[in-house]
This record gives sequence, structure tokens and C-alpha cells, in this order.
Amino acid sequence: MAIPFRHALVTGGGSGVGRAVALALAGEGVAVTVCGRRIEPLMETAAQSPSIHALAADVTDEASVAALYEEAVAARGPFDIVIANAGMAQSAPAAKTTLDLWQKTLAVNLTGAFLSARPAMDTMRKAGGGRIVFIASTAGLKGYPYVASYVTAKHGVVGLMRALAAEFARTGVTVNAVCPGFVETGMLDESVANIVATTGRSEAEARAALAATNPQGRFIQPQEVAAAVLWLCGDMAGSITGQAISVSGGETW
Ligand code: NAP
Repeated sequence: MAIPFRHALVTGGGSGVGRAVALALAGEGVAVTVCGRRIEPLMETAAQSPSIHALAADVTDEASVAALYEEAVAARGPFDIVIANAGMAQSAPAAKTTLDLWQKTLAVNLTGAFLSARPAMDTMRKAGGGRIVFIASTAGLKGYPYVASYVTAKHGVVGLMRALAAEFARTGVTVNAVCPGFVETGMLDESVANIVATTGRSEAEARAALAATNPQGRFIQPQEVAAAVLWLCGDMAGSITGQAISVSGGETW
């Protein structure tokens, strides 16, 4: 499998899934620009490969994304791969979900995904090819308790992906979503800490409860998510579009 594209944007590339995706793409010879709000973790990702450049940007801020595109495109050419991965998840019972949490969750996970990909759409279309991959979640395919805003946002991401796949079907641009179950990253650690704080369960019990949601009884590794992304970006995945691919040990299908 070869990747017939040159420059990828990976949002949230300073940690977890985003870092694994950036390293996987760089390993295939793709120039990668990673973004996030904090420059330090991005620099740590960039230190692992000369193909990776780090630029701070907030995906919820249109002007910040525009500035990122301007600098990255001037330096290394247009993005022909966009991996919209930046996200956040904070749990709360639905009745206690504040408007602030609701809006923040939609802003990062849904609006941020749209804003991250939008500036690349016309250039990909004119170039006759490209790849847009949204890192959604199994929460984009089924409901979970205590994360109403996150589940709503990720269902929105899957809807956005389907709309774009239909719109770009004749252009050579494919649009897909990768939907992981619980992945062993900082986000998972936060979920575990929240369960411990709100239920009094031990950390081991909380981790076991989350791992049990996966029929394989384990957490997904970031590199497994990256492998699915890599395949979607490859030359042999040109007919795969409009798909929400579950990377979850069979939790959803
Ligand atoms: P993570 O390590 O917490 O990564 C989230 C990344 O998003 C961070 O690098 C963060 O960097 C960035 N980010 C957050 N808000 C941002 C903003 N406004 N602008 C730019 N970047 C922003 O967690 P992860 O598990 O790798 O999550 C990556 C993606 O996978 C997310 O979309 C998440 O919903 C999805 N996912 C995770 C799991 C899981 O169990 N871990 C399961 C399914 C799906 P800064 O803080 O520096 O901005």
C-alpha cells in the first residue's frame, strides 16, 4: 500500500490517537503538520520525526484555523489529507449538563472537525483527490450514559462525514470516519478518574468496567486506530468513502 498524497494535517496531534496517526503517516513518507492548542506536546510529537511540523491552533476558532492553513500551506504545500482528530469528552448526567459543557463539547468535536477540514475541500477537489478522515467514536454510532453532549457531537461528526462523502463522491476525495471504542490515552485516564471520583470505585474496577464494553475485553491501542487511518489514506482505499469504521473489538457494527 502506498499513500499517494503529500501533506497531512492532524489536529490534536500532540497526544494519544493524533500522535500515533502523525507518526504513522510520517513513517509512510507524508509531510505532517500537527496542531493543538498547546505547543509543548506538539513539539514532542515533532521531535520524533523530521517530517512532522508543529503549529499551535484552536480548531474551534475559525481565524486560528485560517492562520494555521496559511502558514502550513506556504511552508509545505496544500493539505491533501486532513485527519480531524481533536476532541474532548467530559461526562455529566444529562440533567446536569450545563449549557457551557454542551456548547464546548459540540464546538471542539463537531464544529472543530468541520472547521479543520473546510479550508482543504476546494483545493482537494481542484487537485482531483484527497482524504478526509474524522476520528469519531463508537459514541457516534450508539448511545452511552452520562456523555449526552459527546454522543450528540460524535453522531454529528458521522452525519457530517456522510454528507461530505456524498458531496465529494465524483471528485476523487474520500471522506470517512474511524470510530474507536475506549482507547488507552489521556482521555481514557480522565474517564477512569471521573468514575473513581463519582462512584468511589477503585481505579482497577473503573478500568475493568470500561474494558468490559469491548467484547474483546481490552482497550484499543492508539496505533490500531492509526493503522485504520493509514489504510483509508492509501491508494487502494479510493472506493472506501462514506464509511464509519468501528475499531472497537466488535462493540458496534
Ligand atoms: P487526547 O490525548 O486527550 O487528545 C485530544 C487532543 O485534542 C489533544 O492533543 C488536544 O490538544 C486536542 N484538542 C482539544 N481541544 C482542542 C482544540 N480546541 N483545538 C485544537 N486541538 C484540541 O485524547 P485521544 O484519546 O487521543 O482523543 C483523540 C480523538 O479520539 C478525540 O476526537 C476523541 O474523541 C477520540 N476518541 C477517543 C477515545 C478514547 O477512549 N480515548 C475513544 C473514541 C474516540 P490541546 O489540549 O493541546 O489542544
